[in-house]
Amino acid sequence: MNNEELFKNVISHSKEYGFIFPSSEIYDGLSAVYDYGSYGAELKNNIRTYWWKAMVQLHENIVGLDSAIFMHPTIWKASGHVDAFNDPLIDNKDSKKRYRADNLIEDYIGKQEDKIEKEVEKAKKRFAENFDEALYRSTNPRITEIKNNIATVHGRYKKAMEESNWVDLRQVIIDLEIVCPVSGTKNWTDVRQFNLMFSTSMGAMEETSNLLYLRPETAQGIFVNFLNVQKTTRMKIPFGIAQTGKAFRNEIVARQFIFRMREFEQMEMQFFVQPGSELKWYEQWKEKRLAWHHSLGFGKDKYRFHDHTKLAHYANAACDIEFEFPFGFKELEGIHSRTDFDLKSHEKFSGKKLQYFDPELNSSYVPYVVETSVGLDRLFLSVLSQSLIQEKLEDGTTRDVLRLPPFLAPVKCAVLPLTKKDGLSEKALEIFNTLKLSMYCQYDEKDSIGKRYRRQDAIGTPYCITIDHQTLEDNTVTIRERDSMKQDRVAIAEVQKIVGEKTDIVSALRRL
Ligand code: ATP
Repeated sequence: MNNEELFKNVISHSKEYGFIFPSSEIYDGLSAVYDYGSYGAELKNNIRTYWWKAMVQLHENIVGLDSAIFMHPTIWKASGHVDAFNDPLIDNKDSKKRYRADNLIEDYIGKQEDKIEKEVEKAKKRFAENFDEALYRSTNPRITEIKNNIATVHGRYKKAMEESNWVDLRQVIIDLEIVCPVSGTKNWTDVRQFNLMFSTSMGAMEETSNLLYLRPETAQGIFVNFLNVQKTTRMKIPFGIAQTGKAFRNEIVARQFIFRMREFEQMEMQFFVQPGSELKWYEQWKEKRLAWHHSLGFGKDKYRFHDHTKLAHYANAACDIEFEFPFGFKELEGIHSRTDFDLKSHEKFSGKKLQYFDPELNSSYVPYVVETSVGLDRLFLSVLSQSLIQEKLEDGTTRDVLRLPPFLAPVKCAVLPLTKKDGLSEKALEIFNTLKLSMYCQYDEKDSIGKRYRRQDAIGTPYCITIDHQTLEDNTVTIRERDSMKQDRVAIAEVQKIVGEKTDIVSALRRL
């Protein structure tokens, strides 16, 4: 299966097995908005819980928060979102497709970087053991030429973005001869600016009501509660505040399924530190967050850092953790050193002090902030696209199996009576009713046992236990493992321990 097929398969599998549905489907859907089905909701909860426990429960100096989506409108003035949360958009006149102008250029740069990697790979094969990669990268004329080209493009692109000079930005696209991936032509419109915030109003009377925004990030709820949280939890700097919740962005280009949505969920943590120590913490959080992603077990080569050259107005260092989605390496998480920009700005706009008295320094200051911000939906997509496998079996048939990390699987164990007759259903229900107290289980007696196994494989259930006639005689069941399909006979009394040890989140947290 190539990547395009895999991606199509992920989308259709999500729908067919109750992970993700297009929103408002019976009304033909709503663009870039999705609903999570029963298994999707479980998987999403499990991913969220893993993040929350890893951040809050495992760090004595990180505490949680759940702030409202609606906030005072001045917050978005102070954060810079009213004035600066804009994307440059451009249309191709032939395909009528809309793109973010900055993304077109970044994709071009990405392709140039891929060319370098290809050159290195070729040379590696050619020179075998004698290959000095660092030397080759710094001296090979072809690589130097590509690097120089990237640097020139970067420079022009960065300047145009910083100055919001959309004429120059368009010129970069024209000069690089970037074509529309759909029409293949270079027939571009002007670049225009577009604010990404959704607005609504609060209050009964239209004339007197206040214009409100749906929050485009959860971070500001943390900043404006910084002192409330610090005082009530008696946290000392350095400490962090974590929060998960919905965010809304009127994205210009919203393709690629749940990768870019207009309503999505973020999991963010703002870490408050002494001024001057922020870059040290930034490096630490980069490593910690990468290790968290690696702990999912999909392979280290699936992740890479991408340092930002164009820094947002609030940052003095920033990078993305990128994941190799079926459509290439793309941002999964952002890690930003946000300086004291947000707190200072809220001090200015609210007229209230947002300072911390540091007993060690015996002085007050506005803390600096390092942020980690990951999209729950993008994580969901990374997990799903990495887990879905179409397996060829020895008998020539295929099975769709979702090899989810067991602690993330929606259903941990399926309880299946071999037949409904002879008291097997009753025995199976008795086992199910005990097991369900400690883990999410599913009881299924419909269809042949083979079909039931396949259904559980498709939703990623790590274990199935089957109750047969022998169970009634000696209180044993067969336990089937999803990935190996191996079956063992075990005592009923042991099932909870076997499944629990392999699927509970504690073992995963211990590995971090
Ligand atoms: P992008 O460059 O892809 O638009 P961003 O840099 O604007 O993302 P941030 O503002 O840093 O994203 O948000 C942090 C995280 O929130 C992102 O890494 C991503 O996982 C998630 N995220 C942002 N926008 C969306 C969206 N429209 N749909 C789904 N997830 C999103």
